[in-house]
Amino acid sequence: LTAGDYGAEQSGRVMAHFGRTLDVRPDADDASIRCHLRANLDGLVTGDRVIWRGRTDTKGRIVEGVVVARGERDNVLERPDARGQLKPVAANIDQILVVFAVEPEPHSNLIDRYLVAAESTGITPVLVLNKVDLLPDGGGELMALLQRYAALGYPVVATTTASEDGLASLLSRLAGRTSVFVGQSGVGKSSLIDRLLPDEGLRIGDLSKDSRKGTHTTTTARLYRLPRAEGAELIDSPGIREFGLGHLTEQQVTEGFVEFRPYLGQCRFRDCRHRQEPGCALLAAVEREEIHPERFASYRRILDSLEVS
Ligand code: GDP
Ligand code: ZN
Repeated sequence: LTAGDYGAEQSGRVMAHFGRTLDVRPDADDASIRCHLRANLDGLVTGDRVIWRGRTDTKGRIVEGVVVARGERDNVLERPDARGQLKPVAANIDQILVVFAVEPEPHSNLIDRYLVAAESTGITPVLVLNKVDLLPDGGGELMALLQRYAALGYPVVATTTASEDGLASLLSRLAGRTSVFVGQSGVGKSSLIDRLLPDEGLRIGDLSKDSRKGTHTTTTARLYRLPRAEGAELIDSPGIREFGLGHLTEQQVTEGFVEFRPYLGQCRFRDCRHRQEPGCALLAAVEREEIHPERFASYRRILDSLEVS
């Protein structure tokens, strides 16, 4: 191989992208390689699996690369752009960690909204209750609320950044998976991520510096390896953290309540909207206490908010 040639095809994963420039981490290596995109390729996002080829210098070191193909996506996280159009921002995510906290106290409706949004992407949501150091003895109502979600099948993790072992259950949940953190401002996402990336010089706040060098000034998502848990990766950006408060269709909302699913299609009327129609299977399930009335009320509130917006 002479200097200047591109070598054999390798697989890798997109760590960050700035316009048509990407950082790709080879599957076989830790250090990422600055790559450009082959002309016919477009729309790659952080987390994408790619095929790329490296160009070596005279000493045989790979100095840059070209991405020649994109792998299949398991899933993609989308956010509205400035014109309100949904754009993919990250791909191949194993779980969405919905962070809420003892303080500010979460409304179950807000949790449901995040869960519904997560369900619409097909990515597993995980509930993370942070600041458990502030919990009253016995756990109080919040722990009861969490139990309800656990009973629905959602993984639930309690954390605190106030003690050394406060992240133990979170770390085991992160291991071997690619995660994103979402949640309201003030719940402790930055604090948790600071603990997970102790030696990482690059923080979210620094992203814009990097992006400014590229053609885009938007803060794009970045993929990090989390050294404290084996095989754990995090994709993060300010936009991703705000995920969950965007647009949903009525069907997405209905299907986003996992415990409703067995009853869907069972109503007497095919176009039942589960309000007061006779023979509504959902209303009957609430009546029989197979669906929690608060979850159903939450469903109605989310639908109502769709109608006014
Ligand atoms: P973000 O907006 O979700 O990124 O939240 P931050 O990480 O900025 O945290 C908001 C506030 O909560 C800060 O004052 C943190 O110091 C505090 N905080 C974060 N984690 C914990 C925790 O586990 N326990 C307590 N008591 N406070 C926390
Ligand atoms: Zn119905």
